[in-house]
Amino acid sequence: MLTLTQVWKTYGREPRSAVAGINLEIQAGEFFALLGPSGCGKTTTLRLIAGFETPDAGDIRLGERSLIGLPPFQRPVHTVFQNYALFPHLNVARNISFGLELKGVSRGEIRSQVGEMLALVRLDGLAHRTPRELSGGQQQRVALARALIQKPQVLLLDEPLGALDLKLRKQMQGELKQMQQQLGLTFLYVTHDQEEALTLSNRLAVMQGGRILQVGSPQEVYEQPACYFVADFIGESNFLTGQVVAPGSPWVQVRLSNDQQVRVHHPGGNLSMGAEVTLVIRPEQVQLQPATPTEPSALITQADYLGLDTRYRVQLPGGIGLQVRQAGGGLHIGERVQVNLPATALRVIGLDPSFPVDQEHWQPPPQGVRQPETI
Ligand code: ADP
Ligand code: MG
Repeated sequence: MLTLTQVWKTYGREPRSAVAGINLEIQAGEFFALLGPSGCGKTTTLRLIAGFETPDAGDIRLGERSLIGLPPFQRPVHTVFQNYALFPHLNVARNISFGLELKGVSRGEIRSQVGEMLALVRLDGLAHRTPRELSGGQQQRVALARALIQKPQVLLLDEPLGALDLKLRKQMQGELKQMQQQLGLTFLYVTHDQEEALTLSNRLAVMQGGRILQVGSPQEVYEQPACYFVADFIGESNFLTGQVVAPGSPWVQVRLSNDQQVRVHHPGGNLSMGAEVTLVIRPEQVQLQPATPTEPSALITQADYLGLDTRYRVQLPGGIGLQVRQAGGGLHIGERVQVNLPATALRVIGLDPSFPVDQEHWQPPPQGVRQPETI
């Protein structure tokens, strides 16, 4: 439905592109999250889609139609900003109806639609207040109603809950998701909060340095991070370096830096003998068992009971430290354990954050468009 193809944007004389050749395809009815750290180009991407900025190169399409060259008000998209951007001198009802008034919609029609919107965002009874008489959460509901009343084909949300406290943010997350499903709308939701992106979205894109490093369902991105950056940014990860001692497919044998050997599930067979690799494994996938007298054991150096599970720090022979999370408690600092790294839980990843394993979609910038110097 919404397609971005090789979109580039460099501000003024900035040495690096804010958006560096991104490709995105968002389906109708999706709750799609754009996740990345501050400064990675999320807001710029939304502003390009909304028409507040013009791309240096590339195309942005809604269905069959290119949006390039259309002014913002002619684009069937609307943006909800973090700072709400309400009209301070207008009451709630007029803030919501403003866009329809400009379009010349009749008074009766406006009244009925505003009523519907107030009910939808649970602000019935507050129609005559001004923004200053509302809490942050209520102001954000007004901003949402103001965008939704325009019936946008895509709703762009730029960290819309960023200014709210944690409890209210959780509540609003639930309501947003419910509203999106109930109305069958397409949401493009920008956030730097990985937990928010994982819980809310059907699919998400992880962005860094103006580029998209990975697109997938929350489960795919969490369980199969494409590169170091994604594995490090989303959730907790253990990184292990080693050398391939027995290549093959789907199993590869890797000698870790402490000379211990592990088997890794790596279909594709693109690794050669002696290749230096980085492996990633999530803390909850590391298995701990009681130590046996014959096998070399690991030492528990830290144990933090967290209720649902316990976080351990474990020292392998040869000085490799691992984070481990296990349900329940029961192991203590100073205890010796056997560490098992399941072959299917270990993943080989690309080490350079700007060069994910999957490079097939990357293309150089078109002629005349400046490349980012470094990412
Ligand atoms: P995010 O929303 O992910 O935090 P932005 O899209 O706001 O990131 O910014 C991406 C990069 O572009 C940053 O390096 C930022 O400093 C730069 N940038 C954003 N807006 C402008 C602007 N108007 N002029 C110059 N540089 C900008
Ligand atoms: Mg931003």
